[in-house]
Amino acid sequence: MDLKELKLTAKRLEICERLGLHDSGEILSYYPFRYDYLEAKHYRDFHEGDTVCFEGELITYPSTFRYGKRSTTRFKVLYEEEELSITIYNRPWIRNLDVNETITIIGKYDGKNKVTASNYYAKAMEEVAGIIPYYPLKEGIGQNEIRKLIEAVWKKTGPSLEDLMPASLVESHHLISYREAVHHIHFPASKMELAQALSRLKYEEFLRFYLAMNILKDSTGNELKAKKVFDDEEVEELISRLPFELTKDQRDAVEEILKDLRSDKIMVRLLQGDVGSGKTAVAMIALYANYLAGYQGALMAPTEILARQHYRSLKEILEPLGVHVSVIYSAMENEKTVKEMVRYGESDIVVGTHALFSDDVEFRKLGLVIADEQQRFGVKQRKKLREKGENSDFLLMSATPIPRTLASAVYGDMEVSSIHTMPKGRKGCRTYMIGKNSVVSILPELKRKLEEGRQIYIIAAAIEKNENYKAKDVTGLYNGLKEVLSPFKTALLHGRMDSVEKDEVMRRFNENEVQVLISTTVVEVGVNVKNATVMVIYDADKFGLSQLHQLRGRIQRGEYEGTCYLLSDSKDENVRKRLQVLCDTNDGFEISLQDLKLRGPGDILGTRQSGLPALILGNLLEDQRFIEAARKDARDLYEHKDLPENKRYYERILEAAAKNYID
Ligand code: ADP
Ligand code: MG
Repeated sequence: MDLKELKLTAKRLEICERLGLHDSGEILSYYPFRYDYLEAKHYRDFHEGDTVCFEGELITYPSTFRYGKRSTTRFKVLYEEEELSITIYNRPWIRNLDVNETITIIGKYDGKNKVTASNYYAKAMEEVAGIIPYYPLKEGIGQNEIRKLIEAVWKKTGPSLEDLMPASLVESHHLISYREAVHHIHFPASKMELAQALSRLKYEEFLRFYLAMNILKDSTGNELKAKKVFDDEEVEELISRLPFELTKDQRDAVEEILKDLRSDKIMVRLLQGDVGSGKTAVAMIALYANYLAGYQGALMAPTEILARQHYRSLKEILEPLGVHVSVIYSAMENEKTVKEMVRYGESDIVVGTHALFSDDVEFRKLGLVIADEQQRFGVKQRKKLREKGENSDFLLMSATPIPRTLASAVYGDMEVSSIHTMPKGRKGCRTYMIGKNSVVSILPELKRKLEEGRQIYIIAAAIEKNENYKAKDVTGLYNGLKEVLSPFKTALLHGRMDSVEKDEVMRRFNENEVQVLISTTVVEVGVNVKNATVMVIYDADKFGLSQLHQLRGRIQRGEYEGTCYLLSDSKDENVRKRLQVLCDTNDGFEISLQDLKLRGPGDILGTRQSGLPALILGNLLEDQRFIEAARKDARDLYEHKDLPENKRYYERILEAAAKNYID
């Protein structure tokens, strides 16, 4: 029912608008995020004005006074040997209760053994336990306002809510009906009701989600391709030219990828490994094998700096083997020529930013696309890639490891290769939390490092001063620190500078003409200056854990141990706990798991871009039980979508999927 039909008050309409709720369905799916459980209170702890909850024995028959539609009912109960007088409004049917019956009362204690009940249950306390829902809110909206809004909408539309889910699924999983579930999630009378509501709604979220996945997968077409043929010995030749030995995990990943290239199924694989674990070498080998098979390859990087860095390292090793490598990014000089070379197949491997996928870049024979550090390279981008007219293999590389369920959530059934071990000789990094958003306390330490000849990154969370985002800005920090740190040289770097400037700054830092780089997160990925071993991060609480971990990856590149300082003014216990994770472990897998738990997958993967649905109740990390069942059921349902009992449900999901997942 839309908002008009609901005939809400102006105030409630405004609440809906501010919470982004457009119809009764959305209002009823605005679920509580936590509940208070009303526990029994001893009589001796009753204070006037308290909300109380207790179980008593009825000792007088209830007497009801009616006045029009309203009524007042009074009766007495015995609780912990005290006689309590209870008043309850507008529940005339309470008269049906019998003396000696056990009754649970929830209400307000008015003093002098009087209680105004807001609710009662003719049941024992343990069967009911008062549960009060709390909703996510925006400023200026009260819990009670939203509770009442939901109650009003429920009264109007709840009783006629239909269950579209196939009855066989409801039965086989012992689920309650949709109507009951919506009721119980908002107005649970017991923990059991709440648990039943959660089971039903979570299961359904996953079911819809996997059904949408099935729909999507089929709409992206035939997953077959020509097998790639290449010679193992030639691949080994490249591996032997690398300046290091591959780690065992790198080897395993290479083997998995080569096997995929040779298969007639399109590869969709995630290669995940901590910062510095050596994913680039694996990518290079894959691109070379793809080249040997007669195809062009593309390597996509999130930033220009990183694209050019990959370009240089690929070129250095692959060009002597006769491979032509080129690079594309927006605002480059010889763009036209490069694009021509790509079109005519003169260029074998193209490195670039997302500019690689603009419409005027045409490949002659694209066989493999690798996306580096592109958590956001989701379903839509893949579809776009397909539209380049090729059934290319696809490899996603990420330093933010995600659990398999999440990977398959974002990409359908994606295979995963993981690099857990670091190359030999890495020194790691010590991380310290500083309880102030200032370097004053660590200044002597920083100067000592500079005198020892090391270089320093200083990271800011903001480019400019901003009223709404309280973080130190990079330019302000630069102006404030350059004197303090002299005679050492300081430089400024941020994403709004043009690429020539950025390059020049990076070159000077790389060559140690500059010792301190004050920067935004543009240095997050890929920048590789081995002598820079110290990092100071202002407003550390503004970043996600995985992002902080990526950042400090910059100072673990060489032979010296890194030192990282996380600065934050925050007194929030949760913030400190979060940052402490980084002080305690340097394992990216562990960190991203914590990060996922604390912030949810949407924030990390960028819900919209990744095509990840906004699961409201379900949690892709924790609800394994539902996930497995729903995944299987979705497959079945999809295969039998034309059966009468499945059809309506399927069509409903198809509609939603079309809106959310497919352009
Ligand atoms: P990431 O996984 O973060 O992309 P890179 O591929 O950039 O890591 O590798 C980080 C550094 O480690 C590079 O300088 C690379 O040359 C080096 N490296 C990669 N593999 C090995 C190895 N097996 N042994 C030693 N060094 C390696
Ligand atoms: Mg990398």
